[in-house]
Amino acid sequence: MKNQKLVMIPGPTPTVRSITNEMGRETVAFGDPEFIKDFKELVIDLKNLLKVDGECFVVAGTGTMAMEMAVANVTKRDDNILIVSNGFFGDRFIDLCQRKGLNVDVLQAPWGEVISAETIENKLKEKNYAAITVTHVDTATGARAPIEEIGKVIKNFPDTVYIVDGVAATAGEREYVDDMGIDILFTGSQKAFGVAPGLAILWAGQKALNRRKSLGIIPEFYIDFEKWIPIMNDPSKYFATPAVNLIWALKESVRIIKEEGIENRYDRHKRVSDAINASLEAIGFEILAKEEFRCNTLSNVLYPEGINDAEFRKILAEEGAMVAGGLAAYAGKMFRIGHMGNIDDHTVYSTIAAIERTMIKLGYEYEKGIGLKTLLEKMPVDALAF
Ligand SMILES: *Cc1c(COP(=O)(O)O)cnc(C)c1O
Repeated sequence: MKNQKLVMIPGPTPTVRSITNEMGRETVAFGDPEFIKDFKELVIDLKNLLKVDGECFVVAGTGTMAMEMAVANVTKRDDNILIVSNGFFGDRFIDLCQRKGLNVDVLQAPWGEVISAETIENKLKEKNYAAITVTHVDTATGARAPIEEIGKVIKNFPDTVYIVDGVAATAGEREYVDDMGIDILFTGSQKAFGVAPGLAILWAGQKALNRRKSLGIIPEFYIDFEKWIPIMNDPSKYFATPAVNLIWALKESVRIIKEEGIENRYDRHKRVSDAINASLEAIGFEILAKEEFRCNTLSNVLYPEGINDAEFRKILAEEGAMVAGGLAAYAGKMFRIGHMGNIDDHTVYSTIAAIERTMIKLGYEYEKGIGLKTLLEKMPVDALAF
């Protein structure tokens, strides 16, 4: 038997067979009429899925490139930008924006918590911000920002472009661009879309597109909206080579999402997340994010007394599941487990079983089997499964 390793890190996430098959297809010319048709349909589907009256960009690159693309197209040197940081990936915007010559203000939440819409509203009243960035789910903490409430606040600030980093959220956490007042949303293919790494996907509404137009020529070239808009509307045109196989893979991912139904998908993520958290807590772990802030796409899990991080993750990998370590102050104290994308119930059970085997091997004293028992209670076998 193949010793399968479950990729339970917060991205890349496991790829299902039909998506892997698209990546393994023989590559065609980007001018191939079949491919042009596929690409065009994909862009339209992505706009409909996240409900934007604007543009959707599918560009080779990672989530970090999408962060840069978002900022580059709506700000110019010396503009004010407000960065709402709930952890490591929120902080990443600070350096990115300082290098661009922006005046950066930061609202920083303690790890595991988030900044409220009210705090943001008060800050926005202080000066004129060209843009604000909010990380929907910070992968380092597993805390989820109230993006819809924040969107309502920002409606009263017509000069401020609302940028949401959805990299650990989009297609797993409820997001609708226009309805939530979001101006730019972006993600990477390897997170909740369940495709291999390599594509940045970015949605831009009318407010963001108008801002881009008002800036004239911008210093950035590859990530300029204006360069890509003609391509996204007519992929028979060329600007830079599209990642043909990843575009097919993303198209298959979108087909799966449409088949499941995006609302069902959001509900499934919540069900799986609640079950995994309850199960880990029953074993004796603690979840970093307070219940009211917890996201549905990953869990950041604190070890019980006496469990060594490196040893735990090494044995867990031998037992068939890869998880990620904690970041910054939580390195060595925590592990991070992704449960987003196209993971099925079987994968969830296998992961918890591997964690229980690991704890038993480490000589941890607890009620053996309680993790799996909790899963059976929280994810009954007769309930809707993926
Ligand atoms: C993973 C991640 C990123 C960075 O994406 P890369 O594809 O690794 O560049 C940015 N923001 C969040 C919230 C993430 O989870």
